[in-house]
Amino acid sequence: MSDDARTLRRPVTAAQLGIWVAQQLQPDSPLYNCGGYYEIDGPVDVDVLAEAVRRGVEETEALRSHFAEDTGPDHEPDGEPRLRQLVTPAGDRPLRVIDLRDTPDPEAAAHRWMAGEMARPFDLGRGPLSAQTLLRLADERSFYVHRYHHAVLDGFGQSVYTDRVAALYTALLAGQEPPASPFATLDRVVADEASYPDSRRRRQDRAYWLDRFTEVPDPITLADRTAGSTHSSLRRVRTLDPDLVSRLAALAEQSGVPWPALAIAATAALYQRMTGRTDFTFALPLAGRTGRTGLTTPSAMVNVLPIRVTPDPDRTFAELTADVARSLADVIRHQRFRGEDLVRELGLSGGRQARLGPTVNVMAFAGEPVFGDSPATVHPLSTGPVNDLKVNFYGSATSRGGIRLEFDADPALYREDELTAHQDRLVRVLEQVVADPSVLVDRVDVFVAGERERVLVGWNGESRVVREVSLPVLFGEQVVRTPDAVAVVAGGRSLTYRELDAWSNRVARWLIGRGVGAESFVGVVLPRSVELVVALLGVVKAGGAYVPVDAGSPAERVAQVLGDARPVLVIDDPSMLDVSGFSDAVVSDVDRRVGLSLSHPVYVVFTSGSTGRPKGVVVEHRSVGAYLVRAREVYGDAAGLSLLHSSVAFDLSVTGLYAPLVSGGCVVLAELDERAGEFGRPSFMKVTPSHLGLLEVLPAGVSASGMLVTGGEALVGEALDSWRSVHPGVVVVNAYGPTEATVNCTDFRIEPGEVVGSGAVPIGRPFWNTRAYVLDGALRPVPPGVAGELYVAGVVLARGYWGRADLTAERFVADPFGPAGVRMYRTGDVARWNADGQLVYVGRVDDQVK
Ligand code: AMP
Ligand code: MG
Repeated sequence: MSDDARTLRRPVTAAQLGIWVAQQLQPDSPLYNCGGYYEIDGPVDVDVLAEAVRRGVEETEALRSHFAEDTGPDHEPDGEPRLRQLVTPAGDRPLRVIDLRDTPDPEAAAHRWMAGEMARPFDLGRGPLSAQTLLRLADERSFYVHRYHHAVLDGFGQSVYTDRVAALYTALLAGQEPPASPFATLDRVVADEASYPDSRRRRQDRAYWLDRFTEVPDPITLADRTAGSTHSSLRRVRTLDPDLVSRLAALAEQSGVPWPALAIAATAALYQRMTGRTDFTFALPLAGRTGRTGLTTPSAMVNVLPIRVTPDPDRTFAELTADVARSLADVIRHQRFRGEDLVRELGLSGGRQARLGPTVNVMAFAGEPVFGDSPATVHPLSTGPVNDLKVNFYGSATSRGGIRLEFDADPALYREDELTAHQDRLVRVLEQVVADPSVLVDRVDVFVAGERERVLVGWNGESRVVREVSLPVLFGEQVVRTPDAVAVVAGGRSLTYRELDAWSNRVARWLIGRGVGAESFVGVVLPRSVELVVALLGVVKAGGAYVPVDAGSPAERVAQVLGDARPVLVIDDPSMLDVSGFSDAVVSDVDRRVGLSLSHPVYVVFTSGSTGRPKGVVVEHRSVGAYLVRAREVYGDAAGLSLLHSSVAFDLSVTGLYAPLVSGGCVVLAELDERAGEFGRPSFMKVTPSHLGLLEVLPAGVSASGMLVTGGEALVGEALDSWRSVHPGVVVVNAYGPTEATVNCTDFRIEPGEVVGSGAVPIGRPFWNTRAYVLDGALRPVPPGVAGELYVAGVVLARGYWGRADLTAERFVADPFGPAGVRMYRTGDVARWNADGQLVYVGRVDDQVK
């Protein structure tokens, strides 16, 4: 009989069809390669194993099949070719043996070889779609390696098959005739399944699933990034401590829940703590078998369905586990309903199982076959495609290898150190819940060693001894250094440092005469002009604080701000600054009504806030001085030409105006339009991310050539990339800060050529002498990757809100991590630390949907 005549034509299971279809989309991808190896501890008789494998393959149609699209007479009525599997006869010696005993490092060689094998794609149209190899590492140590395409076998099937080979081997080794094959033909397996699609059972299952998912929670993730879906995977396996394993077993026993429910509950607790979410799904691979044929015959029937978990932070872990156990029992009861069908019926887009969330797979069945007297432990190599993250638990409390926890991740989403940290966290969770199952989910600590210290101290702003100095002093020193340099240009006029200094000195003396001094305010409502700069400096030199109001704002707003601030005087006409009869000389404490102190206010900026009446933020000299000393050091390009287009009513302008004026730079006050580059190309400017689009359409000479500082709102990589592609040589700084923390308190510097990813660009780390905390609702720090409210402390903190003691007390609260009596500001922003120790802005607290 020819081989061809001996080829059997079999139908396929629903699982096989689903995988076959998915593989057709990426024919050369090893995505669906599966496999694992059994580490055999003890001697192996190679010939006996070869015979056992030969018999095993003969008994197992799945290992001998490949696929063909039927074009014969029995094609589907709609003309679509029908998928068949062709089962071919077994070869003579299906076990390949590779002897690595004489290689210098057999272990490493074995792993290299296996990695190479797993990366080789199969051709579904040509068999074989499975291979078995014995790697001999030493006389008493070998790896029995399986590799197969997911379309012919699944993990459950692999385990059933290997148990059979071990039984064959053991019998043959003992010279006994092995028990008869328990395996059925694939015809039988498929026939078993065939009654399901039209059954009442399926209708009930469908009703259960659609009822459970009238709305589907968004997929949950621990990833910091969004791009995904690479073909290789990042894996990390660790064996749980035997003591922990026995305590987990004891806990499962006491609470009367199966181990898989406990494992899923612990994983759910981790995700709850890491994301704050209380309703999400995990993808759960299920054997997909309910009948005896399926359970005893190696085949591909795996089904992936969601398990919905709703961990309430205010309930105990024990309660969560009981909930999960109930849900799991339901899922198992309804597990024959195909995941592909569910995803389609729910209208979930984004590829196979993309919307079901990370996978949690508890493989207690992954048995431990014994080959004669030599026991074996299974080690998975691949379980197919990884969507985000797979959390795999192998083994059980009674297995020889204990329980192994494997994380298998999409390398485009996770870095190795992040994956390690997440795995460590899950182990931390397991340790805590065995120690006290009545722990509230909210109280489960997900920090790993050293992390708390890192977020509170290590990544925080360093303490640095820096000169405490005020703006008038810094500016005065610069006047001495560069008296004849041009300091300010506006409306076709310009002033040198000497001229700006002299004029603002006269204005300061005039203001002092009008009663301006420490703790008094002067409203400044002037258009963009050199007078505007003269006025601001004049007020500050007098020892007062200015209240800048945009001259273009509605009269109502101007009146409201000035009404609240109750200034001594309002400068609302440039001609008011034509003051003569006052000395040009440096203004000192001798001239002032009260000596200038660093704790005197320097300006009061009214921020609209998202709700209610604008509030005046009172900022002191100490903070502005500290900001400028740092700006001068790290924003070197401010010593060149700076373009200031934003209104001085926003503290954003502090950077664009004073960083140059304390560095010898020249500030051009101009509208951001085609003519803004007239005075020369700026080396430095500060814009909000929404200006990037405008900068792109304006001539290149309007964009900063040295450093661009962005701030005020969220910056995303895509928008920045577009601008950077035209300006590749510019340093970009993403600066973050509320007015209450003096302009900015963290920043993130991007050098030319440095690649930024898509999505949120980090806001970086706190400045020196500044601290940032990401805290949960109970003011506890949260680990990297976890979003929490951002609090800021240190020299940058404003004094508070003008005339609003209540609001000040509410937003400026005691800093539990700093020295006694120190305050921190509650920003209302949500942020998280990324794995590099950079802060990432997430949104506003008010926008967070719980
Ligand atoms: P303001 O007090 O008017 O300066 O506004 C400060 C607010 O703007 C912050 O609390 C943030 O919500 C937002 N913000 C400032 N800088 C950034 C930034 N770099 N990224 C994201 N949001 C920012
Ligand atoms: Mg700001």
